Order: sequence, then C-alpha cells, then structure tokens
Amino acid sequence: MQTKPGWMELIYGSVKSGKSRSLISKINSIKNAIVEEKFNRESLIIKHPLDDNKTKEKISSFSEEKIDATECGTTKDIVKLVTKHTKFIFLGGIHLFDKDIVPFSKALINNGVIIVATGLNLTSDGEPYNYMPQIMTLTDVYNIEKGECFTPGCGENAYRSVKINNHFEPRCMKCYYKTKKTPSLVVVTGPMFSQKTIELIAKEKEKKRKLEINPIKDYANEFMNKDISAIFKWSEDKRYNLEKIVSHDGSFIDAIPVENNSQIIDYLQKNKQVGFIGFDEIQFFKEPYPLIKWLLEKGYSVYATCLKKDFRGEGFGDVPKILTLATTIINKEAYCTRCQKQPATETQRFIIEDGIKKPANYNDPIILVAGKDLYTSACRSCHSVPGKPANKYDNILKLKQIN
Ligand SMILES: [Zn+2]
Ligand SMILES: [Zn+2]
Repeated sequence: MQTKPGWMELIYGSVKSGKSRSLISKINSIKNAIVEEKFNRESLIIKHPLDDNKTKEKISSFSEEKIDATECGTTKDIVKLVTKHTKFIFLGGIHLFDKDIVPFSKALINNGVIIVATGLNLTSDGEPYNYMPQIMTLTDVYNIEKGECFTPGCGENAYRSVKINNHFEPRCMKCYYKTKKTPSLVVVTGPMFSQKTIELIAKEKEKKRKLEINPIKDYANEFMNKDISAIFKWSEDKRYNLEKIVSHDGSFIDAIPVENNSQIIDYLQKNKQVGFIGFDEIQFFKEPYPLIKWLLEKGYSVYATCLKKDFRGEGFGDVPKILTLATTIINKEAYCTRCQKQPATETQRFIIEDGIKKPANYNDPIILVAGKDLYTSACRSCHSVPGKPANKYDNILKLKQIN
C-alpha cells in the first residue's frame, strides 16, 4: 500500500516578524486537539541552537510565549529522534541546517510526515539564505509573516531584513531598496494544469478595466504607473499564439515575446510609464533571477507564473531562488489524474515508445513544450521518474518503520 504523503508548511519572513509566535500557536492548536500521550508520541518539537540562541531548549516569541524544544544542530541529530510513530515535526530555524535537510525533508514528506518549520528566506544582503530555495520548492503551504518596517515613521509591512551595527531590523520593500515606488513580487506557482496562467490573465484584465473607467490623462508624463502593464512571455512558447497568453478556457491577453533579459530592459527604458510587469512561465526565461532582482531594485511590481518543479520533481532553473524574493506566493495544486485522491503537486511527463506511453526518464531534457499528450499532474505518491537517484533518507525511514 502506498503511504499517503505528508506536507511541508513554511512560516517565513524577515527578522522580528512573529514567525516563532506563529509556530507556537500552530503547535498549541494541534496539542489541544489530540490526547496528550498521542501528541507526545507523534510529535517532535525541535529548534536549531542558533535560532533565538538566548532561550536554550525553548522556542520563544516576543510576547513571552515559550514551548520546550529539543536542540538539534544538524540533520543527523533530527534523524536520530524520528521514530515510526512520528507524524509531526515542528522545526524552529530550518534555514540554519546543513544541506541534508533537503533530502531528509523530502523523505519525511514522502513517508507521510507533516513538517511545520520557521525560516528566514533571505539574508540581510537580500540573497537566498542557505538551502531556503530548495526548502521553498518543497513547501506546500506558504505562510509569510510580515513584520513592521523599523524605519522611523514608516511602519509598512516588512519583507526584508537589514543589519545595523550588530543587530538586525525589519524593513519594507521601499525602505530596503530605496526606491521611489514600492516594489513587490507575486509568484503564482504549482505543477502543470494547476490554473496558474488564469491568475495572470485575471490580474491583467482587472488593470485594463480600471484604466477604461479611469483613463490616464497625461500618459506621456507618467512614470512607473502600477496600472500600466507590460506582459512578457518566452518566445519559444508558441503553444497557442506567439503574441498572446491563452488559458485553457480560451480567455487571453496580449503579451510581448522575448528571448532574453536585455529585450525586457530595453522595452522598459523606452516605456517609462510601465510600472507593472507580468511574466508567464518564468522558468523558461534565460536567467530570470538577476532580472527579477533588477526589477525590484528599480521599484517595479512584478507578477510571475511559474512551474517551481520540473518533470523530475527538482527545482526548475532559477525559480527556487525567485521564491525567496517573493512578497506573496500563490501556490496552486492540480488534480492527481492517477490515484484521483490526492491533490497534485508534481508534473508527470510521459514518453511514447513503440506506441506505449511510459513515464519519462530522469535524464531526459528538462524543457519539452507539450500539452496533455505528454504531461499530466500527479501527487507525490503517484509521481514516477525512472532513473531518479535514490534518496538515502527514504531507506533510513523505511528501516525505522520495521524497527
Ligand atoms: Zn519602510
Ligand atoms: Zn496520486
């Protein structure tokens, strides 16, 4: 019998944003719902010793709430604590762990464990924190905590952290990037057939309607107006129409096909009115991470749809790093066409060999633009990728089931 997969919920955001408070309240809500003995048998409450190192063996929040936790400095330390009864792992400071936290988390989820973790997505330099891109790719439930910007008199929602002398403070996007307009990044992600594009189409149509009702009087003199948009797509994606983005239900918007970042930058330098940038399927673009960083540094509002995982279930190109920059992540699930029970988080690719449809091999090329003929959506249990390297933690967890 296949195990019903678990999932990962990530509570993330800037420093001083209330991540631990949110984790404590999550733990208490589960603790209060089940018998104590069962909770103690099935749950592990763990913290990295460097996560809030002032409170040893405790996860604590600013509002003085505290909860006992076992300190683990490495993935190996957590592995030792897991038993066949483990159903929940609450983890404070997932961003501080070594790289094995990624395959270990994958194995736990595949074995039915629910992980609820807190983590800092970005360093104070605005770069992804350790293995957070990979962790954010695995995540199913994104819970961003918004602190308050510490710039005197600001108080806007904070999504970034800055280092001042020897301490860290939260900052809003505008104060962090020192821009005239407030930058933002919405990422709509999920497997194929999860209705991502429809979100971008709806957003763009909303902007067009707003402009029809309130037309801009002095268009030529506008600067980075968030109601004036430019939507870009990858020039090799010709599935429906090169200059349109079309959803499965037939609704569409106009889009500018591009081959590289400099075409986008040229366009924006010639069209200074544009303040809102949309991207469809950003995983296909060449080097989209530096492009998105550049757009945020200039103050643009960016809205991007993407596959976060390729057909092998691995992070798709730059997307994992882009997830760490997002101010909002809209995670979409599809329907598992195989078991027809679980929500689908994976894209299943097929190959046709001698007229027989089979799952595509791990070593096949990553980009292959096709539709329902060669792709479907699948849950973690039904996703099949022959040739995929073994995850040693899958075996370790299986052994724990026997013992
Ligand atoms: Zn601010
Ligand atoms: Zn399934």
